[in-house]
Amino acid sequence: MEFKQIKKVPDDWSVPPNLKNYEQTYSEFSWDSILQELDGLPNGTGINIAYEAIDRHAAGPKKDKLALRWLGKDGGIIDFTYGDLKEQTNRFANLIRTLGVGKGDRVAVLAGRIPALYIAALGALKNVSVFCPLFSAFGAEPVYQRLFRSEAKVLVTTKMQYKRKIVGIWDRLPELKYVLLADVEEDLQENVLSLPKLMAKASPEFTIPATDPEDMSCLHFTSGTTGMPKGAVHVHKAVMVHYMTARYALDLHDDDIFWCTADPGWVTGTSYGVIAPLLHGITNIVDEAEFDAERWYTILQDQKVTVWYTAPTAIRRLMRLDMKPRELYDLSHLRFSASVGEPLNPEAVVWGKEMLHLLIHDNWWQTETGGIMISNYSVMDIRPGSMGRPLPGIEPAIIHKLEGGKVEVETRPNVEGELALKPGWPSMFRTYLNDEDRYKKCFVDGWYITGDLAERDEDGYFWFIGRADDIIKTAGHMVGPFEVESALMEHPAVAEVGVIGKPDPVIGELVKAFVALKPGFNPSDDLRMELQGFGRIKLGSAVAPKEIEFVEYLPKTRSGKIMRRLLKARELGLPEGDTSTLETAE
Ligand code: ATP
Ligand code: MG
Repeated sequence: MEFKQIKKVPDDWSVPPNLKNYEQTYSEFSWDSILQELDGLPNGTGINIAYEAIDRHAAGPKKDKLALRWLGKDGGIIDFTYGDLKEQTNRFANLIRTLGVGKGDRVAVLAGRIPALYIAALGALKNVSVFCPLFSAFGAEPVYQRLFRSEAKVLVTTKMQYKRKIVGIWDRLPELKYVLLADVEEDLQENVLSLPKLMAKASPEFTIPATDPEDMSCLHFTSGTTGMPKGAVHVHKAVMVHYMTARYALDLHDDDIFWCTADPGWVTGTSYGVIAPLLHGITNIVDEAEFDAERWYTILQDQKVTVWYTAPTAIRRLMRLDMKPRELYDLSHLRFSASVGEPLNPEAVVWGKEMLHLLIHDNWWQTETGGIMISNYSVMDIRPGSMGRPLPGIEPAIIHKLEGGKVEVETRPNVEGELALKPGWPSMFRTYLNDEDRYKKCFVDGWYITGDLAERDEDGYFWFIGRADDIIKTAGHMVGPFEVESALMEHPAVAEVGVIGKPDPVIGELVKAFVALKPGFNPSDDLRMELQGFGRIKLGSAVAPKEIEFVEYLPKTRSGKIMRRLLKARELGLPEGDTSTLETAE
């Protein structure tokens, strides 16, 4: 890797990091110590995510502290203290109970980032019902698929979403009893009700029922990057991981103002955009609007955000623009940032350091893992391009599958293999909804196989190679698309790259890159040749792309991941498979 390690210096910490000594914390860690820091339900009746996130703070000095600040896309602001959140979520829990929704019943939400989504998510958890978010821009069919599969009893949405998407599919949804509309004052019909009206009528007092740590909490569909999205089932015990990772990987402190840019339609937006900041009793910022560079910098400035959790796709969009954010905005409050969802190109880390004066800490996890598993830390030097090192309590390994259902654990450094995790961390998914077989296949010889390929260096840093499905076999080499994409990203004309293997009769697969250019650069044969030369210098001729095609934009999931399988299917004229999560599929 060409980029040097970025050494942490004392100036990097305006407040002392929570994790002071990685090795020591990792070796001394116990899950019991995390349990001690959570309250548990009164009278020892279990552990409930919403109680830990809201009620325990509302019962103490944080009652009047700002818990959630909602920034409306039209400029409105709504503030909720911990006390307000308690009351509102109590009302929601009461009202769904009145509608016959109980423990384990699914409460789906199809809405943008509006306050009702947050109230419904946490209120459903209070009732030990299951929160099932549906990304707001899904069309009717993807919504149908997920509602049907989840057997949701209640759906919280808006009038427009209801009319456009639900009316036409409801007769195929036998389990769906009620639709609650967040933006109407009067009921539309006897099973299409006004949520504000129900909220006003519901009691603000609610006693959280006994909650077993293994009770189901959330149902999250995966991003669909590699195929049909899977429904990952999560439980209340996951709260231990949300709490621990927010402390160590996101370095949350009591007076932090935190902004996670992910939408709660995806697991990051729920685990870290709703739950984790509240667990720590801090202030959580929610922005209703879509990405806009000026808006984002303004939010970071005006809200005095201290900790920012975002994604490579957003950072690359900021990088595209020829802006000097530090000169235009006061970003001096921002002290820590992290990124997840895709590999963070080394170039992006360097850009963050130079342009934001901020080190961006990459971390790795999946819908299935429920929380961050591998991360860069405030206290640890960064090796740009590496996902970092495992969280305390998490045991990843590089493994090779052998015949007969056995695995070999790789002990040598810098050897590529499958990234696996030792099962048992509290936020591990408990099954794939209605697909126990597929779930079981993820576990081999005592390891959970993630489907990603990686290697570990001599100091224990993990390096992402690619998804097992995306690996390119070219002239006897195994090439991970990330490596090629990151190299091309270093060229000043390149905004984004997606790399695939294209079948070739001579070398097996040839490396093909789809390149989107920054504003001000135009596709030309000269530029193509230049990029090919650039690739050869950076990567060597065996790995450098043999073909480069300029595209205006790359197909991405709605959570911002490059869909290489689609680039490949289109290149080969094959069926595109499930495109329900494709960004442009409306
Ligand atoms: P599907 O499973 O439906 O194909 P998906 O795997 O993209 O979709 P998610 O669970 O949202 O769904 O994403 C997890 C995956 O995202 C990881 O398995 C990994 O491939 C990728 N990923 C997440 N964070 C990182 C990271 N920091 N570096 C590299 N890859 C990452
Ligand atoms: Mg996946």
